[in-house]
Amino acid sequence: MRTVPVSLGSRSYAIKIAPGLLEQLGCECLRLKLGQRCAIVTDTNVGKRYAKAAFNSLATAGFAPSLIIVQPGEAAKTLKTVQTCYDQLAVHRLERKSFLVALGGGVIGDLAGFVAATYLRGIPFVQVPTTLLAQVDSSVGGKVGVNLKAGKNLVGAFYQPRLVLCDLDTLKTLPEREYHAGLAEVIKYGIICDARLFARLERDEPRLLKRDPEILAAMVARCCEIKAEVVGRDETEGGLRAILNFGHTIGHAIEAVSGYGKYLHGEAIAIGQVVAAKVSRQAVGLPEAEVQRIERLFQSAGLPTRIKLNSVQRRKLFATMCMDKKVSDGEVRFVLAKEIGSVTRGHRVPAELIQQALG
Ligand code: ADP
Ligand code: ZN
Repeated sequence: MRTVPVSLGSRSYAIKIAPGLLEQLGCECLRLKLGQRCAIVTDTNVGKRYAKAAFNSLATAGFAPSLIIVQPGEAAKTLKTVQTCYDQLAVHRLERKSFLVALGGGVIGDLAGFVAATYLRGIPFVQVPTTLLAQVDSSVGGKVGVNLKAGKNLVGAFYQPRLVLCDLDTLKTLPEREYHAGLAEVIKYGIICDARLFARLERDEPRLLKRDPEILAAMVARCCEIKAEVVGRDETEGGLRAILNFGHTIGHAIEAVSGYGKYLHGEAIAIGQVVAAKVSRQAVGLPEAEVQRIERLFQSAGLPTRIKLNSVQRRKLFATMCMDKKVSDGEVRFVLAKEIGSVTRGHRVPAELIQQALG
């Protein structure tokens, strides 16, 4: 088993990465000295495959679990679902020391995390991420929240889990498209801070695409390490944490303009990162050969790298970018790469450069 520590003072916790961890859920929770009552929050897809194993493991360890099952997908990440979760927690009489287990992808992690952050002013929660995206990204760092009609993740909190268990076996049942989308975040870590990881991804891609457990374990652990390091230095996104948004300003705008649901998050940020790489070439001198390596790696990971937009969509894309949450002083600031493995943040980029990079 690989363990990645996340150091946040009294809120520190461990990310454990290995196959078969779901069966260990109960004994892992015992070590945390939590109350007996708990609730597993999951969605119907994940629930039908993994809820029983999670439930039995907790029950065998002496806990009294209940199960809350919500609809799959982003549409469930609302205050309405939060309300139904609260009601069920109250029915099951969860108390201050009781805890939640978030069993699922990023949607479940964000939703259950937000419920945990706010029910009784906060109860402990444990993350069991079951998508590649959630294992390498959303389960690390403590951002939890739900969507409003006006936009994604507009209501939320920083709330750290007590433990994250990444069971690599759960990735075996992940649909191909979701798996590829997760790889977009993995490649991102290579670009923003680790040229060796990027080169390893180029070399090991065939095995990675086959979900080879050895490669997966090493890769998930490395991504978690990088994210933990960044979050450890900047828990609440004062500065450094912004580098994790490489490709995201454009990616988020692509998600919004194309209508949520057309592109998965990972697909949109794959395009966003390639556009950011092209902007980087013009603005900070990222060598052309590296721009090509970046585009090639996304392509061979089965991800889109370009988008066709008509002039109306283009205008909308720019307007959306200016409304991004990360805009400061009314100006969009970009994270750009000088070379693979090294980025800088806070760049103002003229609109024409982005136009050009969009092709
Ligand atoms: P993300 O982590 O990409 O934000 P979601 O929580 O939206 O993911 O999950 C993506 C989809 O994959 C959902 O339909 C979810 O039910 C499904 N899913 C999550 N984990 C698994 C898994 N291990 N096996 C099969 N389907 C899964
Ligand atoms: Zn992302």
